[in-house]
Amino acid sequence: MARVFSGIQPSGELHIGNYLGAVRNWVALQERHECFFSIVDYHAITQSYEPAQLEAQTFDMAVGLLAAGIDPERCVLFVQSHVPEHTELAWVLTTVTPLGELERMTQFKDKSQLQESVPAGLLNYPVLQAADILLYKADLVPVGQDQEQHLELVREIVRKWNRRFGAGFFPEPQVHHTEAKRIVGLDGQAKMSKSLNNTIGILDDPERIWQLLRPAMTDPARVRRIDPGDPAKCNVFSLHQYFSPADTVDHVADSCRGAKWGCLDCKRVLADNIIAAFVPMRERAAELRAHPERVHEILRSGAERARAVAAETMAAVRAAMGLLPAEKVALRR
Ligand code: SF4
Repeated sequence: MARVFSGIQPSGELHIGNYLGAVRNWVALQERHECFFSIVDYHAITQSYEPAQLEAQTFDMAVGLLAAGIDPERCVLFVQSHVPEHTELAWVLTTVTPLGELERMTQFKDKSQLQESVPAGLLNYPVLQAADILLYKADLVPVGQDQEQHLELVREIVRKWNRRFGAGFFPEPQVHHTEAKRIVGLDGQAKMSKSLNNTIGILDDPERIWQLLRPAMTDPARVRRIDPGDPAKCNVFSLHQYFSPADTVDHVADSCRGAKWGCLDCKRVLADNIIAAFVPMRERAAELRAHPERVHEILRSGAERARAVAAETMAAVRAAMGLLPAEKVALRR
């Protein structure tokens, strides 16, 4: 059985972008593979964030994942900072990672342009990703297109470490492509992202979903109701393809091209289908929120299971690199 690692940042609510782009795929993967899923809070702090909100956002993400179908009986779900070996291995891997490779990462270049003073954590972000994956010797990593460059760097780090310290110790992880790679936000411009305020939360109530969808960007050619549209140029149509049955999708395309209905009619149908799709998840989330101790117990147990694997990997890494074992001086880790 292949081993899978994937992480998600604690951005609070799970929205349809990260649900369709990642989490729906995780739910399927946990049925077929040995999966480690992590809420990566150490990644979240590499960018500007609000410390007073991080804990609640981490809890909310755990609730969202569990409500969406992540099953702690079928996978290991944990918070990254609860397994200190992640940062330990990240440091070790920085010693074999070429600086030039980190500097040419597209995400680093994009994000560092937005900051006056660039923190080293932003540069080293892919090294922490490498540690996340390699601690568990994962074979498969489900990533979006925007992360494929990082995964290629992970493979480069593996080759360098293995060449120096232990041939074949770390496997070279492979990309597991997802069907929905990039979900565009309600602005019709950029990837759906909480920070861009262009999302619909999977746990949003029906009225909020409608209020968010109403002003969503459509084909700009449809200025008036009588103007024919092109579904291929409309993100609302893309969302229909995820949430509406095939005959509805055909009806939407035909009604759009023939100007047989208005965009608000079209969005209303989509809103109803999105609302219906997430009813069971809203119910599960309400149940979990009423019993936060259940969520805490799942995360505690997940961290323990993750640490058992992570500690074994780190012990072997330290030995291969010639570090004095703590056990020899009777120090318990
Ligand atoms: S009718 Fe629907 S698919 Fe066509 S432009 Fe309007 S919202 Fe988009």
